[in-house]
Amino acid sequence: MEPIITLPNYINGQWCASVATEFLDVTNPATAEVLAKVPLSPASELHQAVKAAAEAFLTWRRTPPTERVQYLFKLKNLLEEHFEDLSRTITQECGKTLAESKGEMRRAIENVEVACGIPMMMQGTNLEDIARGIDEIMIRQPLGVCAVIAPFNFPGMIPFWFMPYALACGNTYIVKPSEKVPLTMQKIFQLLEKTGLPKGVVNLVNGAKAAVDAILDHPQIRAISFVGSTPVAKYIYSRAAANGKRVQCQGGAKNPIIVLPDADIEMTTRIAADSAFGCAGQRCLAASFAVTVGEARHTFTEAIAETAKKRVVGNGLDPGVEMGPVINAQSKVRIEGLIRKGANEGARLLVDGRYPNIPGYEAGNFIKPTILQDVDPGSELARTEIFGPVLSLLHVDTIDQAISLVNSGQYGNMACLFTTSGAAARKFRYEAEAGNIGINIGVAAPMAFFPFSGWKESFFGDLHGQGNHAVEFFTQTKVVVERWPGDWSRQF
Ligand code: NAD
Repeated sequence: MEPIITLPNYINGQWCASVATEFLDVTNPATAEVLAKVPLSPASELHQAVKAAAEAFLTWRRTPPTERVQYLFKLKNLLEEHFEDLSRTITQECGKTLAESKGEMRRAIENVEVACGIPMMMQGTNLEDIARGIDEIMIRQPLGVCAVIAPFNFPGMIPFWFMPYALACGNTYIVKPSEKVPLTMQKIFQLLEKTGLPKGVVNLVNGAKAAVDAILDHPQIRAISFVGSTPVAKYIYSRAAANGKRVQCQGGAKNPIIVLPDADIEMTTRIAADSAFGCAGQRCLAASFAVTVGEARHTFTEAIAETAKKRVVGNGLDPGVEMGPVINAQSKVRIEGLIRKGANEGARLLVDGRYPNIPGYEAGNFIKPTILQDVDPGSELARTEIFGPVLSLLHVDTIDQAISLVNSGQYGNMACLFTTSGAAARKFRYEAEAGNIGINIGVAAPMAFFPFSGWKESFFGDLHGQGNHAVEFFTQTKVVVERWPGDWSRQF
């Protein structure tokens, strides 16, 4: 057995043992094996990272964008070279299948690729002769030290919605990974180190609340990106904003899909099952409830129940496995409790995935796909983010009723429609209150060159992650109005 290592932080170009007094076990959710210990770094370590990043900013912001992106090109190559290992690490600490982890890493790399276009994306605008002989120029400049606070469910991808853009724009950066899954970022920082980035430009501080609060309160941190649950998003948004920082907070979700009677049921079922049960339902874009309209009540219900029962559940590293465990035992107990409560409140348990027997993985946090039918739209099951492999089925008679049901929820991360009617699709796209819309798509995740939009209680802020929004978030505009009097033709 290999000894269990305690993860170091990466500050000012050095790997350093944390001075923390508290540590958590990082466990493989499929096997309960302890993979490492993560320090809960105190505020003092975050302060050291800010000091290093603030010093590095002085020269990093003067480094031409064309040179800055050379480090990202190197990073892209290193991520490709270590793609398999990084994907396996995600599966080991987070539980999703290897194919899902590879999909996640591909999305991370796409963001690096897009950020390599910063010499074009960061350009300002100008207009000559805004008045006689006067020109106006808008320049984009970096902010300074920025930070990301990340959730557990995409340990490789989510920091990449922000970090490559922040660096390419000339900012310096601090990453605070989720304490539940810190190993992937540890490996990614080993690659960042290999790119030869100047010391202090990127820093890694492991930890939980103390490290986060230090980020929120440090006067030299200019901008914060957060992704996680809605209660924490609200806390981060209000405390950081009260401290005068630029903040973007992506929160939780309760994503609906609507199935119209004209939908291709075979395709819809396949896609809906992947959305609800992929990553064991631990995706902020997972379908959490399906609203069937008219005849789809019968056709879709039968088909999705059959598909759910057949899903192969197990260790995500094993071949043929289609769904892994949930992140930890607390999460499993919470999800089982919500299923029980839903059934007690009158929903019918069509497929019950609780307490499965997964031979060889008895210690894992497994729940198989679960479907509840006739769920009351006002019940906790229909309103709460479950973040597990549980799909609730609701039924209405018209598309208008379905859209009102979708729009009555507190969240607005994603809403999807399954239909063969262009008119229905257009109506839905127009009226649905969510920032990411899928038409015959089950996980409407925007590519790196589009903003990851969330609405309502799924997002707090103005500018989202990825693409042009990220460039705007990580730069401040400066407008120069210039007059140069005199006749230049006589001077030379
Ligand atoms: P979480 O809110 O528990 O934790 C997120 C981060 O906040 C972690 O780094 C954690 O250390 C920190 N944190 C937690 N509690 C804190 C507190 N009281 N004070 C200060 N910091 C605190 O979220 P999670 O369980 O890791 O992730 C799952 C959640 O993330 C789900 O709600 C999911 O919908 C959401 N999510 C949203 C998106 C999106 O794009 N909207 C994407 C992925 C995940």
